[in-house]
Order: sequence, then structure tokens, then C-alpha cells
Amino acid sequence: MNTKTAVITGASRGIGRAIASAFAKNGYNVVINYHNSESSALELKNTLISQGYECDIFKADVGNYDECMALMNFCIEKYGKIDTLVNNAGISQIKLFTDITPNEWDSMVKTNLTGVFNCSQCALKYMLKEHSGNIINISSMWGVDGASCEVHYSAVKAGVIGFTKALAKEVGLSNIRVNCIAPGVIMTDMMNGFSKDELEDIKSEIPLNTFGTPDDVANTALFLASDHAKFITGQTLGVNGGQVM
Ligand code: NAP
Repeated sequence: MNTKTAVITGASRGIGRAIASAFAKNGYNVVINYHNSESSALELKNTLISQGYECDIFKADVGNYDECMALMNFCIEKYGKIDTLVNNAGISQIKLFTDITPNEWDSMVKTNLTGVFNCSQCALKYMLKEHSGNIINISSMWGVDGASCEVHYSAVKAGVIGFTKALAKEVGLSNIRVNCIAPGVIMTDMMNGFSKDELEDIKSEIPLNTFGTPDDVANTALFLASDHAKFITGQTLGVNGGQVM
């Protein structure tokens, strides 16, 4: 068993999956949270374990407080502590503002913002006792800049940035750092709705003229969790090829 432990939400696919792999390969016990994609989470667990790394999976809807508490309790029972929480789980939707239904708005807030509250509060119950910990929230460049036809997504991702700054101020004296990553366009299932032509248009707006990979975000999360970032808290790091500066 390793000396450090990380809980990664929404780690069955995409960015969360890359973060879970990176943490497992860099000396962490990892709890892979999933909601619907059980077979994908299990496949990741089996792959990492067959390579000699330590991890387990746990099903929880981040929008449900009791399930988030159960996720953190599971981590404590299995590994004894939570050094790092990565709040990655998220949903997105492209829709004209006037067409967004109240239910769609609520569901965006519940998963992408309430989920961050739920998991952070549940994990902090343990981190505060240890007087140590690290929370990394995955926002979006649209939380910084705002995206047309993604008002609900942009609003909650901006909320995650405000949450990060406020919590960082509150728990700094307890030796807990809270930071945010604001990815740009990262090639995952979340980008499946875009056509080839639309993707080419988007790429032309990125100074580095390429899309990001889940590993680009995972490496940034590893850095923020490490002692190399021990004087960094309350910050939002853009990982976006220069699309938003
Ligand atoms: P993705 O490939 O669609 O994966 C989403 C992940 O979130 C899945 O593992 C999914 O789990 C999980 N999830 C969704 N709702 C959940 C819930 N209620 N409870 C627990 N887990 C839940 O998306 P991604 O591109 O990796 O995005 C990951 C994060 O990065 C999100 O917060 C997203 O907003 C942010 N982001 C992505 C991009 C991008 O270009 N891809 C850019 C900026 C920010 P199940 O499949 O098990 O349900």
C-alpha cells in the first residue's frame, strides 16, 4: 500500500480516468468514483491492479450528499486517509439559453457545482482532522470566459472558481490547499457532439493549434497535488493551448 491516497470523482472515463491512472502510477492509492459506467471503471481498476498499482472503485452520484459521504468513508476504511480529492465529475450541454429548461438548469447545478460542495465537505471532515489535504476542482475555460449556448455550464464552472478561492482562504490555516484547473478543449466523450468541421473551426481559435489530451489535465493535477505546488492555493490554472489567457 502507498503512503498517499487520492479520491477522483467521475474517473470511469475521459479526464477523470487519466487523472486516476496518473495518480496511481505516481504513488497514490486511488479511489475511482463512477456513476453509470461501471464496466469502464472496473476495467480501469483491473488494468491498474494488473500493472501493480493500488486502486478500488466506488459508485456514487456526486449530486447526492449521502453517496458522497459513503465514498469518502469507503476511502477511509480502505486506505486510512484522503490526501487529495479531485472534483472532476461533470456534465455538459450545448443549448440556446432560451431553450434551457428549469430541470436542465437544476441538473447542471446539481452535478457540476453541488457535487463539488458535497465531495469537498465530506472529504474535509477527514482532512481537517489530519491538518493536511489537497482539493483540486476541474472547472473550464468557459467558467472564466463564458460560452455562448452554454450559459448554465459556464455559470456553474464560474461558481467552481469562486468556490475554490473562498474555500482556499478558509482552510489555508489548516494546511489544506484548494486549487482549480480550467481546461480548454480536451478530446473526450464530452466533445462527441461536435462535427469534424466544427472541431476544425474550434482548433483554428487555439494558438497552439491542437486540442488537449486528458493527460495534459492529469499532469497538471499531479503537479497541483505535489509539494512542487506547496505555495499555490486558490488559483485557477488554464490548460487550454492559449485559447483563453
Ligand atoms: P466525460 O468524458 O463525459 O466524463 C464525465 C465523467 O463524469 C464520467 O466518468 C462520468 O461518470 C462522470 N459523472 C457525470 N455525472 C456524474 C455524477 N452525477 N456522479 C459521478 N460521476 C459523474 O467528460 P470529461 O471531458 O472527461 O470531463 C471531465 C470534467 O472536465 C468535467 O467536469 C468537465 O466539465 C470538465 N471539462 C472538460 C472539457 C473537455 O473539453 N472535455 C473542457 C473543460 C472542462 P459515469 O460515466 O460513470 O456516469
